[in-house]
Amino acid sequence: MKVMAHRRRTEGDWLVEEERDIPGPGRGEVLVRIEACGVCRTDLHIVEGDLPDMVPGIVPGHEVVGAVEQVGKGVSHFARGDRAGIMWLHGTCGRCQYCLSGRENLCRSKEFTGYTVDGGYAQFALAREGFLLPISHSMGAVEAAPLLCSGIIGYRALKMAMPPPGGRLGIFGFGGSAHLTLQAASGIGLDVGVVSRGDAHLDLAKRLGASEVWKSGPKAWKELAGRFDTAIVFAPAGEVVSLALESVKPGGRVAVPAVHLDRVPEMSYREHLFREKSLFSVEANTRADAHEFLALASRLGIRSETESIPLAQANEGLRRLKHGKVNGAEVLTVT
Ligand SMILES: [Zn+2]
Ligand SMILES: [Zn+2]
Repeated sequence: MKVMAHRRRTEGDWLVEEERDIPGPGRGEVLVRIEACGVCRTDLHIVEGDLPDMVPGIVPGHEVVGAVEQVGKGVSHFARGDRAGIMWLHGTCGRCQYCLSGRENLCRSKEFTGYTVDGGYAQFALAREGFLLPISHSMGAVEAAPLLCSGIIGYRALKMAMPPPGGRLGIFGFGGSAHLTLQAASGIGLDVGVVSRGDAHLDLAKRLGASEVWKSGPKAWKELAGRFDTAIVFAPAGEVVSLALESVKPGGRVAVPAVHLDRVPEMSYREHLFREKSLFSVEANTRADAHEFLALASRLGIRSETESIPLAQANEGLRRLKHGKVNGAEVLTVT
């Protein structure tokens, strides 16, 4: 099978096309024939070496949609031909204090698709049965792929930063995850404001249900002070964290669903945290988050806006994401 493997740190040349054997599924594992794989910002952090403990030659990609090709011993919930999705959380130990308390996303020995085990920038990938998601035939593979990380993790951030009913949510940065989270938030009746640097992003935000949009800049920061009940920071920039804290009312919460962020500037306790404001990160997601979000997406008709390119052009896809050229989500198509 063809894979795009991580071999270099030079921009635009991170991945190399390689030919590998198709892996056989072990006990409890499922082999998926890939149709589409989303390009997530985490993939960019992986190829640029921002994350610790990188595996040489790893195949990135964790928004994988395809058809079950083969199942290993003991697999009972999936059969050849079923439509399935592979997400970022690849496996957990099932025994640690986090796994036993509904917080498996924090498991001490978790595995991640496309980071600790090979992922979906390939023609085939393996998943553990318990972490594989059934995907409805009502959506195309390209359209479904971004739901599997961008969608689910944005949903977890929304759940954790939930404003009061009918309250105001601020979304900072508007890429793959934000455009799905906006649809979920406005679909459940929240008033959502979006702040972004890009005009095309703001147009898309308006079209997808944002009640107000602001172009980042000093004028916006002034107007936004104390405006939202809660906020989510999707922009991969530490400086936005303190601006988001200024934008929430007393008691407001700010969620940061980022796997990596550049330096957060020094903050003032009085301006940024006093009056019971809180700041927290969101790490990955649990399986429960995944099932809840996919059900919500189908009920609300959440749709991803995608740009698709062939697997062999994965380097170019990552470069476009790095430079803010993608509006909505980018997806690799696999044949
Ligand atoms: Zn565990
Ligand atoms: Zn992701």
